This record gives sequence, C-alpha cells and structure tokens, in this order.
Amino acid sequence: MVKFLDLQKINLAHQQEIEDKLLAVFRSGWYLLGNEVKNFEEHLSAYIGSPQAIGVANGLDALRLILRGYIGLGIMKQGDEIIVPANTYIASVLAISDNGLVPVFVEPDINNYNIDISKIEEKITEKTKAIMIVHLYGRIVFSDDLKKLANRHDLKIIEDNAQAIGADYNGRKSGNLGDAAGFSFYPGKNLGALGDAGAITTNDENLADVIRALANYGSNQKYINTYKGLNSRLDEIQAGILDIKLRYIDQENELRRKVAKKYLSEITNPKIILPEYPVNELEHVWHLFVIRTEDRENFQNYLSSNNIQTLIHYPVPPHKQEAYKEYNSLNFPVTEKIHEEVLSLPLSPYISAEEVDFVIKTINYYK
Ligand SMILES: *Cc1c(COP(=O)(O)O)cnc(C)c1O
Repeated sequence: MVKFLDLQKINLAHQQEIEDKLLAVFRSGWYLLGNEVKNFEEHLSAYIGSPQAIGVANGLDALRLILRGYIGLGIMKQGDEIIVPANTYIASVLAISDNGLVPVFVEPDINNYNIDISKIEEKITEKTKAIMIVHLYGRIVFSDDLKKLANRHDLKIIEDNAQAIGADYNGRKSGNLGDAAGFSFYPGKNLGALGDAGAITTNDENLADVIRALANYGSNQKYINTYKGLNSRLDEIQAGILDIKLRYIDQENELRRKVAKKYLSEITNPKIILPEYPVNELEHVWHLFVIRTEDRENFQNYLSSNNIQTLIHYPVPPHKQEAYKEYNSLNFPVTEKIHEEVLSLPLSPYISAEEVDFVIKTINYYK
C-alpha cells in the first residue's frame, strides 16, 4: 500500500529527539506559556525573517486573530471586504466571515491554481481592506505588481501560509511577503505538530501586541482585559516538537522537491495534466502534488485498486458549501473545473524511491 502521507514515518525520522523532548516537558511540570513556546517563536521569527512570531492554537485561529487584530486597531470593521481566492481551503474564508468581514472571491490561474493576480483590481471597492493570498499546495503567489496594487489602494496583504512554510520568493520567505501571515502546524502540513498548532508572523509591532492580547483572553496583564479576547495558545509540548522539526524543514522540503521533479519528468500519460514546475524552484515546497484529469473518479478508483492512496484537495469550493448558502449562486467556472478534476498524489519527504516508481509506473499504465 502506498500511503498518501505516512505521518508515522515522517515523525519517526526524528524519534529520539522528539521522545526526549516529550519526556523533558512532561517532567518539567510547565505546560503553557513557557520557554518552549518562547524558543520556538524566536526560531520561527529568525527563519521567516519576520520580527514578530506568535504561537497560537491552530491555523484557522492564526488567520482569525490577524483580522481580529486589525479590527482591534481600528484598521478594519464589520462589513469591510477582504479579497480571497475562490480556490482555497475553507479555513481562509471562515477566518474572514467569523470576524463579520465579507469575503470577495477571485478566480485562480488555471496554470498554477493560485489566485489570478490580474483579476484582483476589478474586485476592489471602497470597502476593501485587505487581500488574503493563499500559497496553495505550497506554491508562492506573489509579485511586485501585487504589492504595488495593495499600496495603491492602501490594502493589507495577509498570507495564508498554512501550506507553504519554507517557500522562498527572491530571497524572502513566504510569511514575510505581506503585512501578516498565518501558519498551520496541523500534523499533515510540511511542518507538522503532534496535534493542533499554528502561528502568526508580522513585522507590525502594534498588530503583534494586539494579537498577543487577543489570544490570551484580550489581556496583556493578568486580570486586566483590554479586548474581548479568546484563548488560543500554542502549548509547550507542541512548541518543543515544532522547534525540533523546524531545523529539518529545508532539508525535508528539498526531499519533497525531488519527488515532485521525478513525478514531473516520468509521468507521461497524456490523460494526466501535471502541475507546473516554477521557473524559480524555491517558490514551491510541494505540500501537495496535484494533477488534473477529466475522468477523476475512474482514475482514483484505478489507483486505489492498485493500492495507491490519493486525496482530493478540494472536492467542493467554499462558495458551493452549504455553510455559505449566500454565495451558492455565484459563478466561478475556473474554480469549479479545478474542484472537479484535481487529485493529489502520494508525496512526503520520506516516501521511498520504490513507492514513487510504483506510482509513476501505475499511472503511465492507466488507459
Ligand atoms: C490547514 C489550512 C488551514 C487551517 O489550519 P488548521 O491548523 O487546520 O486550523 C488554513 N488554510 C489553509 C490553506 C490550510 O491548508
């Protein structure tokens, strides 16, 4: 069986270090708001190149807290509009609507599945306050034109960096391209915890101060509450594990790149549309290797009958979800086509060469 993602293998690659850390935190008697979180925040901040890093409970909270932080600072208010890709995981959109803000969807570029930057400006109104970019599947979406557009309209750029930690755009890391970024360390992400975890990076000290308070009951000082906050903390055990795994992220992303390259050069079945390999290869960390095919159900069943696990990211776009009935009648043909045709192949830093060869051979055999 070729697993889609062998989490056990991924974490056993660091078994000794992780087990030592688990035991040390357990025995320390200190489980929240301690040195593990402090160290991880410092190391994440240095790695991303962003002066502020804040550990939080998960990736959705990271995005929710960024927007709530801007509301706290008076930069956004209920009813304001946030541009977001129509082709994304629902969490990007939930973070917006949860704050009483309005998502404004923009179609993706069919060649790389990311938001089509050239289609953003037509969606900007006087209510628009930010552009949320999502580096989907691990590929950076950014350009100098995007930055200029945001500056011209006085918009914040918020990065949903849940899938692209370690990706690099001309020497700058994803998570340091806009005004603030949300990270997810869900176990299956490129940097995965052993449970839920997330973080925010920003170079805006005021925003960071508000977010730190918001994530801690709205309080900067014990029992003094400035905001109506929530409880969204990264715990010491997860922080300790993430701090270990952060040291290997570049190496592991490089292993993902190798697998992606091999798929790209050796899958030759004309029924399969392969993803684009970016000119600058560091812009992609291959969180997912997503192909397209017209007869997806057949193809997925064929792979499954050959013991190859695949997943669909994602089968239903946010605007077609029952939760967003108000957007169900909107039309996003590119997004809808993508959702009907995509399939994610097995990929991880530790997938074996034999498994990769078997996947390639099986796909090329498909009629
Ligand atoms: C995983 C993910 C999130 C949410 O992260 P959680 O830690 O699961 O809350 C948000 N956006 C994208 C694009 C994701 O892939």
